[in-house]
Amino acid sequence: MQRKYNPYQNMLQVMEEAACELGFHEDDVVTFTHPERELQVSVPVRMDDGSVRVFQGFRVQHSSLRGPCKGGVRYHPDVEMNEVRALAAWMTLKCAVAGIPYGGAKGGICVNPSELSQGELERLTRGYVDQIAPIIGEHRDVPAPDVGTNAQVMGWIMDEYSRLCGRDVPAVVTGKPIALGGSLGRQEATGRGVMLCTERTASKLGLTPSECRVAVQGAGNVGFAAARLLSERGYRVTAISDVSGGVLCEDGLDFRSLRAFLDRPGALLREYDAPGAVHITNRELLTCGCDILIPAALENQITGEIAKEVRARVIVEGANGPTTNEADEELGKRGILVIPDILANTGGVIVSYFEWVQNLQSVAWSLDDVNEKLYTVLTNAYEAVWELAQERGVTHRMAANMLALRRLVETRRSRGVCVA
Ligand code: NAD
Repeated sequence: MQRKYNPYQNMLQVMEEAACELGFHEDDVVTFTHPERELQVSVPVRMDDGSVRVFQGFRVQHSSLRGPCKGGVRYHPDVEMNEVRALAAWMTLKCAVAGIPYGGAKGGICVNPSELSQGELERLTRGYVDQIAPIIGEHRDVPAPDVGTNAQVMGWIMDEYSRLCGRDVPAVVTGKPIALGGSLGRQEATGRGVMLCTERTASKLGLTPSECRVAVQGAGNVGFAAARLLSERGYRVTAISDVSGGVLCEDGLDFRSLRAFLDRPGALLREYDAPGAVHITNRELLTCGCDILIPAALENQITGEIAKEVRARVIVEGANGPTTNEADEELGKRGILVIPDILANTGGVIVSYFEWVQNLQSVAWSLDDVNEKLYTVLTNAYEAVWELAQERGVTHRMAANMLALRRLVETRRSRGVCVA
């Protein structure tokens, strides 16, 4: 029987390899192999037809060592504890790579949000907040959007938490609507970060935008923004997909027409029609002829088997954990450069941090300010990872993990281990 893929084990293996490469003793890193706190909740919701359904929700706080826990909330039918655990640990590593003063957390609800009405979604979100309220807070744990959630969901989280506290607490959540203290630039920040990492990599490899064909898996918050921004910068984005499949257009996709199509309620790319565009499966997208592949949907998409067929020269991981360890090894053997998730998709959490800082100070920065600061923080992180990879002769994933672990261990040593 095939063993079920466990993203948390995947994360632990990479972390252990990084610790070994850095020559750390087990005592230095053992705390990072155990999440600090895990909460599983049952959320009853009155459905529109009058019935009551109970949904399973989760919040895992992996580490608060370097600052308040930080991480998104996912609404998806496959959400389960091991996945949330892995995503929480990746947030700790990601914030350490970016050098921002946050720890890592993640939350989620096992639900297909597209099957719920707006009213049902709002009641589910408020019920979830009521259950996790004892462990979140502006200086404890700050949620944000992830797969299946958006600014509106964050708005409900802010409102419900503020209601429970009896005062406005905008800094309890990021990725909010602008009217509630959201930051300009947050919505597309993860995609912008993916674009910046792609641009920097192309420039290091001496590739000019017009000769780069880009394929993107996922047409959501991250994938679509990255694809559109790259297309605006002259890259030929030839393929994009969603859960229903993808479209490929050798001359490059038209993002204005794609946006208009995807804005229609219930739109699925398998129904998209444009001159020169052909329909492909998600597997065909991952293995299509392109220079840069951006997986920006879910984890575990590039398996060992798919890795053998990938034709891209570079993979920039927009999603969290899209490449299995087996696939990583195969890609390494084949000389395919991977810019890892804990670097490539940090744009979102970096601008979430900016949003939090603005909320705590009751100020609002301009879009230019936000994008400029994002560029600076992300470029510093990118260069630190690139240099470490060169210096130690390791992959960029290993270098990013090493950089994060080094910062975490340094903080742990300075703070000491609580043994009370
Ligand atoms: P989203 O819900 O906005 O979009 C997800 C996209 O993936 C959709 O187009 C969906 O149709 C597609 N998809 C879902 N299941 C799929 C499948 N089985 N095969 C192919 N496509 C599928 O989500 P998002 O916010 O864009 O997040 C995408 C990834 O990026 C996730 O791994 C998430 O954890 C990660 N991420 C998101 C953010 C953020 O700010 N939103 C930040 C960092 C990382």
